[in-house]
Amino acid sequence: MRYLLFLLASLILISCGSSRKNPPSRIIDRPIVFDEEREQLSLDYMKERYGLEQEQPVIEPKMVVLHWTAIPTLERSFEAFKNPTLPGARTEIAGAGNLNVSTQFLVDRDGTIYRLMPETTMGRHVIGLNHAAIGVENVGGTPETPLTEAQVEANIWLVRYLKSKYDIQYVIGHHEYTNFEDHELWLEKDESYRTQKSDPGEEFMAKVRAATADLQFKPLPEPVRNETFPLIRDIVEDYEKYKENTLEERRIKHEDILPLIAKWKDHELFEVNKVGTSIEGRSLNLISVGSGDTDVLLWSQMHGDESTATMAVFDILNFLADDSFQQEKQELLQNVRLHFLPMLNPDGAEEFQRRNALGIDVNRDALRLQSPEAQSLKRIRDSLDADFGFNLHDQSRYYNAEGTEKPATISFLAPAYDYEKSVNDVRGNAMKLIVQMNELLQEYASGNVGRYNDDFEPRAFGDNIQKWGTSTILIESGGFPDDREKQEIRKLNFLAILAAIFSISEEDYKRAAIADYSKIPENDSKLYDLKLTGLQYELLGDQYILDLGINHSEIPSKGEQKFYFRSNIADQGDLSTNYGYQAIDVSGFSLKPGKIYPQTLPNLKAAEKLDFSDLLSEGIAYVKVKDLPKGQNYTNYPIIIVGERFRAPEKIEVGMNPTFFLQKTGESGYAVINGFVISLDGSAPKIENGLIIRN
Ligand SMILES: [Zn+2]
Repeated sequence: MRYLLFLLASLILISCGSSRKNPPSRIIDRPIVFDEEREQLSLDYMKERYGLEQEQPVIEPKMVVLHWTAIPTLERSFEAFKNPTLPGARTEIAGAGNLNVSTQFLVDRDGTIYRLMPETTMGRHVIGLNHAAIGVENVGGTPETPLTEAQVEANIWLVRYLKSKYDIQYVIGHHEYTNFEDHELWLEKDESYRTQKSDPGEEFMAKVRAATADLQFKPLPEPVRNETFPLIRDIVEDYEKYKENTLEERRIKHEDILPLIAKWKDHELFEVNKVGTSIEGRSLNLISVGSGDTDVLLWSQMHGDESTATMAVFDILNFLADDSFQQEKQELLQNVRLHFLPMLNPDGAEEFQRRNALGIDVNRDALRLQSPEAQSLKRIRDSLDADFGFNLHDQSRYYNAEGTEKPATISFLAPAYDYEKSVNDVRGNAMKLIVQMNELLQEYASGNVGRYNDDFEPRAFGDNIQKWGTSTILIESGGFPDDREKQEIRKLNFLAILAAIFSISEEDYKRAAIADYSKIPENDSKLYDLKLTGLQYELLGDQYILDLGINHSEIPSKGEQKFYFRSNIADQGDLSTNYGYQAIDVSGFSLKPGKIYPQTLPNLKAAEKLDFSDLLSEGIAYVKVKDLPKGQNYTNYPIIIVGERFRAPEKIEVGMNPTFFLQKTGESGYAVINGFVISLDGSAPKIENGLIIRN
């Protein structure tokens, strides 16, 4: 009996011992090509990415990383890893070396485990951690081939097997790898080399973790968060406190900002210098703050009618001078020196026009330098040799983020510095900052960010300043629903610019991936103020279906209002690829021309007594007035005032003022007066403004 027991014990010992020396029968060796080329590429990778110089591409396993191949079959999965070099299609990681990807293990859908390479040879399967990670790929992971229970079981078995052989401290899913960015195991040197992963998913990891809890792996490190964003979110909560209340609409002039410039000149924090004079003699002022080595130059309103960022700049100055966030600002101003040049084109601002007094576009004067405004900007850029530049503009409110109905409220551009649109470090850093600003803006205006066309323009400032070595970012403020005066957009400027400034200070932007820049949707020009879809239109006795795109154009005015609206039909026909700030489906409604009120009124005052609700319900859109007031082109009446000889238009066409009715049997219908829709449901009619048309 004792002898038998001894024999049994020996057998157990022998079998245990042998399992440590030979692979357990469960593992099938199916080696990928690991020739001299792959060995050399692996050594190069370790040296380039991790700074590790070794004789052999061996690893010290500290973690197991679980993956899926996103390929439905074993054979095709194996093919993906087999060869030493990356297939041409994998451009997103090719920049980080030509070594093909591979893991040490591949698990088929039935749970069969294949070993593709020696367990302690480095495979390329997880950024930053390959020198310490054994990888396990699972065949499948497409929507049609979710990972199987057999694979869960095989992964659990493998984790236990590897833990018994090596000092494994972590078991992670590939989607969790960025949690290690600040971990001592993380060796990747390029802060922007990241790819987004979702494999093998939370559910799979939860099952493996639950079944291996007894092995007491270390918990996943806390994910590394962007350090700038939480601060900016806090600051923005108090935005109203920083908002410069003396500027509350777009049409700001030089005289509006002079008191603010004088105020900051007297403030101990700021240094204010007059750095130039416009053609008409208005001062250009540079407001500088901070003592850091990194110079950041921001200029706004190079185009006189693009004032959104000018307002935001003064909000930022208020924030900097406020007594909140003292410690954060102190740190910021030790790292950077900020230079603000608000309203570079004050002569244009005076008329709220794009061009300067010479009638030129200052943004096409970077080479010829004819205008004093352009000369000043060039001189300041050169004297500071600024590290970063912010070129702050406004763009058309009719731009949308490509493929969506969302206005491109903020569009970014890292301008090209050559026709080939090359990316060097200077432009690359601008792109990274944009990637970060976009990410933050999505929290406040989801889907409202666009990317401006990056064709090289040799005469433009942004392109040249990029070329001269300043990382340059163009910010364009577009439109936003219910925000004609751009006060919401101004706030978005405030937070995006502040985020960029703090990111520059902390060098946080270096974490961003340049590849994400091109994921920002391009600007498109598919928006109208009003889109009417599917209306019935009769022409020469036949019926047609039309969509109308209508824009509410602003006309400057010297009256009590600074502008009024004169709408126009921007396009008509099939507008199914267009969008509207306001979009109304008027299918089944027939377009009826507006009628003229039968009486001619002596003067405009007499129109006050009209019941506009009545008139509109009778299909009357025009009222003739004998004595039209000189110089006045609009009224607050929801109707069109016309001269005695006026004749109502008989057809609609592109360019004309959209004034008509939409009728449908059994429905109250709509009036469209000067491009504004009035629902004829009995409520008091109200529009932005009516027009006076003289003949
Ligand atoms: Zn502009």
